[in-house]
Amino acid sequence: MQIDVLTLFPGMFSGVFGESILKKAQEKSAVNLQVVNFRDFADNKHKTVDDYPYGGGAGMVLKPQPIFDAVAALKEKAKTSRPRVLLLCPQGEQHTQKKAEELSREDHLIFICGHYEGYDERIRTHLVTDEISIGDYVLTGGELAAMVVIDSVVRLLPEVLGNAESHQQDSYSTGLLEHPHYTRPVDFRGLKVPEILISGNHKLIEEWRMKEALKRTFARRPDLLEKMELTNQQSKWLEEIKKELE
Ligand code: SAM
Repeated sequence: MQIDVLTLFPGMFSGVFGESILKKAQEKSAVNLQVVNFRDFADNKHKTVDDYPYGGGAGMVLKPQPIFDAVAALKEKAKTSRPRVLLLCPQGEQHTQKKAEELSREDHLIFICGHYEGYDERIRTHLVTDEISIGDYVLTGGELAAMVVIDSVVRLLPEVLGNAESHQQDSYSTGLLEHPHYTRPVDFRGLKVPEILISGNHKLIEEWRMKEALKRTFARRPDLLEKMELTNQQSKWLEEIKKELE
């Protein structure tokens, strides 16, 4: 996968792209991450990328020309005809695990990070394929949001995570929040690991994990259960959980 990020602050990415799973993913050639300063594409003498808003008002607006030309150059270089062009934006569709899964099946993603008051609307209407928000709050710029989305996508690429299955049970991947985890010691200052997990009985352990995932989802995110098609067994367990909690 090719991922290009258009930003005015390329230095912000070196830590996140140069460590841990994102670093390993690039070493394994699962992804090529490229950070591009779109100021380099400004066609005016002073390399200006923003200007005052028509109609007046506070803040500066990112001009269309540098961003349109940067995207065109990246498309040309990658030789991909239809990359997804993603605008980070607090007004966009809220990012989800489902969206991360969808994006992980693409071969070229271009992220555009805004700054200042926002973008010229023609970027939104004539250049981008997706507008993504990471939550109902306003950040200084799109860089942190791009890092969040890229991290959530790259970890889903084949062979990026050590254990190929390790994201499949993650919260939201199954539709449920994940069950609790424990590790050694069995007894930590009087706090014991549930007996079932040290029983060695894999079938009972799987059942316990599913019940715990249902319990946790019901307690914290009942809205997720409404969107899920539960099996008969899961529905039965959920009824038992509701009775237990009454
Ligand atoms: N004036 C804009 C508005 O009210 O919608 C907010 C601009 S914000 C200060 C600057 C940039 O940060 C945005 O263009 C966007 O790239 C990014 N940004 C801010 N909040 C974000 C969020 N919740 N999700 C994704 N990107 C965000």
